[in-house]
Amino acid sequence: MENKKMKKVYVAGHRGLVGSATMRALEALGSYEIITRTHDELDLFDRSETRRFFMSQRPDYVVMCAAKVGGILANASSPVDFLHNNLAIQVSVFDAAYASGVERMIFLGSSCIYPRDCPQPIREEYLLTGPLEATNRPYALAKIAGVESCWSFNRQYKARYLALMPTNLYGPGDNYHPENCHVLPALIRRFHQAKMNGDSSVGVWGSGNPRREFMYSSDVGDAVAFLLGLPDSDFDALTAPDTAPLINVGVGEDVTIREVAELVKAAVCWEGNLVFDTTKPDGTPRKLLDVTRLRNLGWKAKTSLGAGLQATYEDFLRLHAA
Ligand code: GDP
Repeated sequence: MENKKMKKVYVAGHRGLVGSATMRALEALGSYEIITRTHDELDLFDRSETRRFFMSQRPDYVVMCAAKVGGILANASSPVDFLHNNLAIQVSVFDAAYASGVERMIFLGSSCIYPRDCPQPIREEYLLTGPLEATNRPYALAKIAGVESCWSFNRQYKARYLALMPTNLYGPGDNYHPENCHVLPALIRRFHQAKMNGDSSVGVWGSGNPRREFMYSSDVGDAVAFLLGLPDSDFDALTAPDTAPLINVGVGEDVTIREVAELVKAAVCWEGNLVFDTTKPDGTPRKLLDVTRLRNLGWKAKTSLGAGLQATYEDFLRLHAA
């Protein structure tokens, strides 16, 4: 029976931007048994409860997308949450995954784990070669601890845990909180409101000069599905005990905040002026990932920024502007 061979995948954080994209990608394949739990059903802060869940469900694979995430101001205003909440749930999940014999885990991080001033594009080996960007250091440190957990379990227990570092993501179901969200949802919301109110100018944080790489969330879901589906020999090579189990995922090119703001304006069809507010932080000057490693395995992002923004705005209209 075919069902016997289906791998059981637990997607932790299945309602978030990456988790929901992963769900769409895995469901489309139809070759996995997927299990999820809402926060009310399973509290990942609780190590015993998490371990009991893993021992009873025995997932073969885990995609660890559960995390406390937020934009530049949210990180600045609640650093303890970004550090401690992420560390706590990571410890619970790694511990339970190992105890229950999970075969493969993909742990999701972020490109902000790399040093603030490292050469661009950012290669995986630049991790821990310089100081971090201060505006998201607590979050970055928690995620770096997650990478180190993957490597430590691979070294000590011959586990197969891989850390996937996506560039800045956007897409359906994003967080549109006016202050705490990331730049693209913030601009989509603000430009949409300006269009509704007939406003002729809107503020954009910072100088507009920082460069960022943006990837549509469905593409990261696709990358997760691609990696989970790799043959044992490839997955084992990525997670061999003597290898940093780290792989970047991005689109391979970046834009300035000014340029992306113009693209959001076009997607929203609002034609006013942008007013750059330099009292707000710019954050790191540039963040472009080197994606050679993933490309060499045969994977490439598919969605252009223009098409992704259009789809994201349509989703925003469905959910927030009805
Ligand atoms: P970062 O990539 O970790 O810095 O996270 P963000 O997505 O929060 O910010 C990216 C860049 O967009 C920074 O240079 C921000 O100053 C800039 N930016 C411009 N307008 C906004 C806004 O309304 N919200 C946010 N979060 N960032 C903005």
